[in-house]
Amino acid sequence: MNSSRSSASTIIVIGTGIAGLASALALARKDQDVALLGPKAPLPPARADEFDPRVYAISPASQQFLVELGIWDLLPADRVMPVEAMEVFGDAASPPADAVRRMPAPSTGRVELSAWQGGLAAMAWIVESRELERALRQAVQMFNIRWIADRYAGLERHAPDAPLMLRTANHAGLPCGLAVGADGADSPLRESIGLPVTRSTYDATGLVMHLSVALPHQGRARQWFTPDGVLALLPMPDADGQPQVSMVWSMRTAKADALLAMDAATQRVAMGERLFEATGGVLGALTARTSLVGFPLALQSASQMVAPGVALVGDAAHLVHPLAGQGLNLGLGDAKALADTLATREAYRNVYDLRVLRRYQRARAEPLLAMRLATDGLYRLFDSPLAPVNWLRNAGMNVVDRLPPLKRLLVQGASGL
Ligand SMILES: Cc1cc2nc3c(=O)[nH]c(=O)nc-3n(C[C@H](O)[C@H](O)[C@H](O)COP(=O)(O)OP(=O)(O)OC[C@H]3O[C@@H](n4cnc5c(N)ncnc54)[C@H](O)[C@@H]3O)c2cc1C
Repeated sequence: MNSSRSSASTIIVIGTGIAGLASALALARKDQDVALLGPKAPLPPARADEFDPRVYAISPASQQFLVELGIWDLLPADRVMPVEAMEVFGDAASPPADAVRRMPAPSTGRVELSAWQGGLAAMAWIVESRELERALRQAVQMFNIRWIADRYAGLERHAPDAPLMLRTANHAGLPCGLAVGADGADSPLRESIGLPVTRSTYDATGLVMHLSVALPHQGRARQWFTPDGVLALLPMPDADGQPQVSMVWSMRTAKADALLAMDAATQRVAMGERLFEATGGVLGALTARTSLVGFPLALQSASQMVAPGVALVGDAAHLVHPLAGQGLNLGLGDAKALADTLATREAYRNVYDLRVLRRYQRARAEPLLAMRLATDGLYRLFDSPLAPVNWLRNAGMNVVDRLPPLKRLLVQGASGL
């Protein structure tokens, strides 16, 4: 925070997760006066063969943004895995009875997409959350961004269109023009200004763990739409000399809870068996490397991403189903759009000018809606138990697989570029 500037132009980013760190850095690089407010828990040191259970599939658009921020080269190259191709498998079922005579025999739907089809270096990069955070923190330090290791507790404002005073848990008062809420899905900032959210739960829990696999993954991400929910296995760097994948299985909550409640030995056997069955043995035997962790899944969006003196980024503004692995990518897109919008505002407008903030909201409206519709639509399409829907979704996948121009569009669309 630059004390020579007026506090009316100061931006305080609340929340020190990845969306918050990236927002502060993007704003600082655009010469905005910015500080961070949030906890600063130490990160455990990186150890060979030990990987953070939380990993992200970073899209080409996000990777480009991280390059612009100077973060990409700070990531340890041997812990970043490029995804060269993606295979998606459907769930076979019989066609509707009256269509049997006219339609070809059903087969499990399958679509294969590869980076080269879209002219990309990779479809995505798998990166550990901890390593991304470490690189962002390093850059925040290099840019000398002030980090107030405290928690947001509330705000005061004396006029609707005026700077704010943030209150912290330790009773400090922080004057600023704009408060950026990067404080997660339960956003205390969003709650304190009464911005409503629409939320629907999926009756699904995201189960996460890393696994050793007997056969090489060949840099492929694989996804199965199984009767137990959507299973994704993402390629990871080898660990202990063996190929490794990271699992995200969004499973009906009752089934997920039953697995989570098992003792470690029973859980290991149960997961190995279920995974082998769901994957059809394509990666050979799968053995747990980490314990199973569960995350409740929801679709949520704030009614507005902005309010006078406030802008929301990341999960504070929106939550999507993780089947497309896009939650954090959306948050990084917000960080970039907010920094670009504020840096290009007219010289006579303040950082808290609602007209400027609405430009940011408009810039994010289309990508957010597209991602919400795509992830929620896919989830509901594959969640339907109806036989005709089941048949159509598998047949549809096989049709897509035979149309190279459509596959090129899908790869380019998913890149976010
Ligand atoms: C199972 C699963 C798999 C996923 N896989 C992917 C994937 O492959 N790719 C992808 O792009 N996304 C993925 N996501 C989504 C991704 O995890 C989130 O979108 C992302 O972590 C959100 O980051 P954030 O910084 O917005 O929020 P958070 O990570 O929740 O950070 C919020 C921060 O705010 C801080 N905070 C809270 N309260 C206060 C306060 N009062 N004052 C100050 N600070 C405060 C917290 O301490 C925290 O640091 C996945 C999600 C799930 C559940």
